Amino acid sequence: MPPASNPTELARETLKQLAARRIAPTPENYQRIYRELAGTAPETAAAEGVEENLARILESLGSQLPAQAPRLRQLAQAVEARDWETFGSTLGSLVKPQEEAPANWAEIIRELIRQWDLKQLGLTTPRKKEALERVLINFGRNPTVLAQKLAALTRVWAEGASGPSDIKLAPPIPEVPIDRRGAPINVPLVEELPALLAELLAQALREGVLPRLGHVPRLAAQAERLAEQARNARTPEDFAILSQALRQFWIQLELQTEAEAGVLDGLMRLLRLVIENISELLLDDQWLRGQLTVVQDIISRPLNARVIADAEKRFKEVIFKQGTLKHSLNEAKTTLKNLVTVFIERITEMSESTGGYRKKIERYTEILSGTEDLPTLNQILQDILADTRSMHLDMVRSHDELVAARQQVEAAEARIKQLEAELGEISELVYQDYLTGTLNRRGLEDAFEREFARAERHGLPVSIALLDVDHFKRLNDTYGHEAGDQALVHLAKVVKDILRPTDVVARYGGEEFVIILPDTTAEDAVKIMTRLQRNLTKHFFLHDNQRILITFSAGVAQREGRESAESMIARADEALYRAKQAGRNRVFLAKPLQSSAG
Ligand code: GH3
Ligand code: MG
Ligand code: MG
Repeated sequence: MPPASNPTELARETLKQLAARRIAPTPENYQRIYRELAGTAPETAAAEGVEENLARILESLGSQLPAQAPRLRQLAQAVEARDWETFGSTLGSLVKPQEEAPANWAEIIRELIRQWDLKQLGLTTPRKKEALERVLINFGRNPTVLAQKLAALTRVWAEGASGPSDIKLAPPIPEVPIDRRGAPINVPLVEELPALLAELLAQALREGVLPRLGHVPRLAAQAERLAEQARNARTPEDFAILSQALRQFWIQLELQTEAEAGVLDGLMRLLRLVIENISELLLDDQWLRGQLTVVQDIISRPLNARVIADAEKRFKEVIFKQGTLKHSLNEAKTTLKNLVTVFIERITEMSESTGGYRKKIERYTEILSGTEDLPTLNQILQDILADTRSMHLDMVRSHDELVAARQQVEAAEARIKQLEAELGEISELVYQDYLTGTLNRRGLEDAFEREFARAERHGLPVSIALLDVDHFKRLNDTYGHEAGDQALVHLAKVVKDILRPTDVVARYGGEEFVIILPDTTAEDAVKIMTRLQRNLTKHFFLHDNQRILITFSAGVAQREGRESAESMIARADEALYRAKQAGRNRVFLAKPLQSSAG
């Protein structure tokens, strides 16, 4: 059968074949036979026409419905790529939203941005980003669910914010609690609560209480039993019995804690007593007294692990430095002793050699008195000359040796002096505050004594300032204790930089400093402290690249007559109190002695 040449012939031949093969003349059968006769896949051509039309229609629809344009474009692209799966799902999503209430995206986005910018307790921006990312990854393909999840997420953020959210979110979604990271939390059923609470109580006893009772086996065993009892409690009777047993346990625990606190107090008192008495016995040993001062300093402060650790570190440093210095000092002293021995040996040798010479001369004198013989006399003269020459050489050698030895002795002495000075300096460290390097209370006592004596000797005024950092607790709370410590270091540095080298700076308490200003009247002291305040506003304290402004209040007092340091500090403290009352960041002058005493 020759292939038909044109569509009309093909159509005619197709009909003939349908009849000849007794095939029912349905459109599908007609198409199949037509294709067979044409030897092609004419349906493709037909479909191409359909696809082209469809794509064109979709495009023109897109320009009429701008809101749906992206989806319509997606559809057109799917047609072009013959990706019928994507075509189906895109078409589905185009149709579906019309069945549900559309998400209020404007509100959702507005609230999302608002909560993003707000500060929430315990929520950082990276954490928010992480939660948002998770929602976008998990639900990004389903806009309706995405809208619900985003709304839920911002609501959880809003709960962490200081004020409640005033924007109503649409649409309402079923409550599934999620944690701060956006993960769902399992909520127990009401009937599960007793068992759950019992388990929590058992856990608290086993993990919270038990480990702290290692040294009291009796109470530890009791806690263990109670935990077991709690774990198995189910009925109201069980809980009644448990609650009574617990009450008794708490009472015993409290008694135990009180007893332990008593033991600790007693030990501290004992330690203080021992230290005080040892230092009485050792008054003449500067070095050992230094060590004891450190321990005394530690135990006079309220104890906590940090204070003890700081003190231990410093104490070890002092001991180490003093140890190495003492070692060098001992070495230097040994060298000196050896040199002195050599010195004495040389002098002995010299006197021996001169002693030998004298004996020879005596012998020569003897011979001289007993002879008249010229050759003998000549011989004696020559012997004397030779002996004198050798003695002279001996003397010169010994003299040179002695000079060298003396130089070595002097060098050793100088080294000893230097080492002793260094040891003294190290021992002075015990008079310094470990954090700021200013004087500590003990150092301040010495400084008062020294400065008062000097002022009296020369008839000069002397003033003090008591300075207290403003709102320091707030700084600690905001930036942490470590930052607080660094702020004190910063403050001490600025104070030392601004004041004269002769002024004395001492840490009086936590964030309080005493400054002694020799040869300064109260009026000048106020000016100096005010200048210090101005300088502090120029030299910011930097913490994590943040500029933090530290201010202080101060009270200033000038010494009246032979007034004691305590009295001056009390007057300055009263002025400081008024400076705080007046709004802080101020310097106030103390009242005169009479009126403040009265
Ligand atoms: P005011 O302006 O009234 O002086 O307020 P303040 O917060 O400074 O006063 P307050 O005396 O109530 O608080 C002082 C705080 O200083 C309390 C304590 O936690 C803290 N502090 C004391 N010593 C230290 C220290 O060595 N380091 C640090 N970081 N904080 C300290
Ligand atoms: Mg204070
Ligand atoms: Mg303060």
